[in-house]
Amino acid sequence: MSRVFQPSAHVVEKSRLPSLDKYKEMYKNSLDNPEEFWSEIAKEFYWQTPYQPGKFVSYNFDITKGDIFVKWMEGAVTNICVNLLDRNIEKGHGDKIAYYWEGNHPDDYSRITYRKLKDLVCQFANGLRSRGVGKGDRVSIYMPMILETVVCMLACARIGAIHSVVFAGFSSDSLAERMSDCKAKVLVTSDGAWRGEKLLILKKTCDEALEKAKTKHDHTVETCIVVSHLAKASPCGKLGDIQSLYDWNDDIDVWWHELIENQSNDCEPEWMDAEDPLFMLYTSGSTGKPKGVLHTTAGYLLYAATTFRYVFDYQEKDVYWCTADVGWITGHTYVVYAPLANCATSVMFEGSPFYPDNDRYWAVVQKYKVTQMYTAPTAIRSLMKFGVENVTKHDLKSLRVLGSVGEPINPEAWHWYYNYVGSERCSIVDTFWQTETGGHVLTSLPGATPMKPGAAGFPFFGVAPTILDDNGKVIEGPGEGYLVFSRPWPSIMRTLFGNHERYQSVYFSKFPGYYCTGDGARRDEDGFLWVTGRIDDMLNVSGHLMSTAEVESVLTEDSRVSEAAVVSRPHPQKGEALHCFVILNAGVQPDPSITDALKKHVRARIGAFAAPDAIQFAPGLPKTRSGKIMRRILRKIAVGDTDIGDTSTLADPSIVDQLFKSKP
Ligand code: ATP
Ligand code: MG
Repeated sequence: MSRVFQPSAHVVEKSRLPSLDKYKEMYKNSLDNPEEFWSEIAKEFYWQTPYQPGKFVSYNFDITKGDIFVKWMEGAVTNICVNLLDRNIEKGHGDKIAYYWEGNHPDDYSRITYRKLKDLVCQFANGLRSRGVGKGDRVSIYMPMILETVVCMLACARIGAIHSVVFAGFSSDSLAERMSDCKAKVLVTSDGAWRGEKLLILKKTCDEALEKAKTKHDHTVETCIVVSHLAKASPCGKLGDIQSLYDWNDDIDVWWHELIENQSNDCEPEWMDAEDPLFMLYTSGSTGKPKGVLHTTAGYLLYAATTFRYVFDYQEKDVYWCTADVGWITGHTYVVYAPLANCATSVMFEGSPFYPDNDRYWAVVQKYKVTQMYTAPTAIRSLMKFGVENVTKHDLKSLRVLGSVGEPINPEAWHWYYNYVGSERCSIVDTFWQTETGGHVLTSLPGATPMKPGAAGFPFFGVAPTILDDNGKVIEGPGEGYLVFSRPWPSIMRTLFGNHERYQSVYFSKFPGYYCTGDGARRDEDGFLWVTGRIDDMLNVSGHLMSTAEVESVLTEDSRVSEAAVVSRPHPQKGEALHCFVILNAGVQPDPSITDALKKHVRARIGAFAAPDAIQFAPGLPKTRSGKIMRRILRKIAVGDTDIGDTSTLADPSIVDQLFKSKP
């Protein structure tokens, strides 16, 4: 039995949703009367034309009855950028800070108000138009975490162009593939950026990618817009002569500052239909070839705004900080769209949690008096290694809500986050969602729901989760199986860009009538939902079904272990057996006695059937650039198969070789 944590008085006092009953009432209403529920929220936003009554939501989730589609607020016409900027300025918030920007080097920081942000967005939007970009055109963005990135995304939204952000850690091959797949007209980048002490020459990667797009994929990008960032940034290592770091081609390259130089800071928005595309974004690629997920306008706005308000309990004077890179969906929804839709003040951080020291995150929280912090379990685990003094020496009293996203959070990391970062008085919101869902779908709510370490909690408003068994039978009450959704919420993706077939087959063909997440989930006796990991990561050992997350949590209970990843490999008697990759804390040496202790511990905590066959001490794990463990590669290592498939999203390929070599 896991312990239940109730929201503290510190959180409840201020909460806009201060009780479980209130949540239940609103949740029921959101499912019973979706039109009433969401149209009430829609009233806050600006609509050039209102939706047609009676057409609030229509959809088909059943592939046996025809093509899959989802439509919200048909007939409505709006522009998201106007809702994020103009609307807030008209309400008198032009001088409110939209972002505190904190650079990689602690000496580099700035701030921007809503008014100034709008001016820059309009100038850049006009600049894009001057280059022939208009409604429906694709703009690829390969940028560091700087304010121009937000400006660029919103400028696209203002003129109806579809942005496709590619995380600026991807290789030129990955960028070329993604630009060609969406037939981008323009690429926006910066000359470079510092990441800790490492200098990234982004323009150079872009040059290579533009060339590869042409030669390998037969696609020509017309314009490459470049932000001059390095000259403004304090050097964090060896820099040298910036101009010599990359080439310049006058035919396609243009400086950002020259493009906007004479542009007006007024820009007539493109009025968009509710279902017109807003942006596309490729998934992280943890499980295979990335998918170009497409999100549209009205539903995305409603859902992003509402989840932000309730999940982070954002209040007027709060300072919110999401550490995610804009290259991922978390950065799209919860660094850009949702905070601005709520007229929030956010921190945007360019740097690394380890530079100039391992306490940078906590220094940033203290500096800006952050009230809500939103980060990933992988970051928490990597910071736990350095001890609690790094945290406790900072004043973190301002914090109220701590968010987690990206993977199931193991209870060890949860407790550390709760005890040391949150001083046992902040609520932790473990937000389960996907690139495809557009916003949080399962989560705790800070003042309302109790928390269990490792459980995602409860469905957000409008979300109807179902757990199915192998045969597609609904599991009512406690049980474990496939996590699916029986109806759409406003921000569920509408298609995969240019590939509706793949959309239907990946997400809707396994269980007709349901959107299939590809994740497993368990509902416990108290109704909490636990995401148990990818369905591909489920194990069947001697007839016992279990999830890798469960075994990993148990391994990390040993104080010598900082991170663990578990995969299965075939076994002649048991069917499948466990192969565990274990990373030890700094200073701990691998030793057979640790192997024994870990095997015994898993046996004792889960059962004899779960005893690992192999424990492999690993220097690191293969991770996506968003920090997720790529278990499909570990499965290959466990069986010694070197044909590891698509590795375009792998952060550090050298780890793979090291793991093959160190296999016990
Ligand atoms: P790909 O779909 O290309 O394999 P990906 O699924 O890693 O990549 P994302 O959309 O960024 O790409 O991640 C969504 C997935 O992350 C979820 O399906 C789930 O497996 C995991 N996840 C995210 N948040 C949580 C959470 N709070 N708890 C458990 N799992 C989570
Ligand atoms: Mg996925």
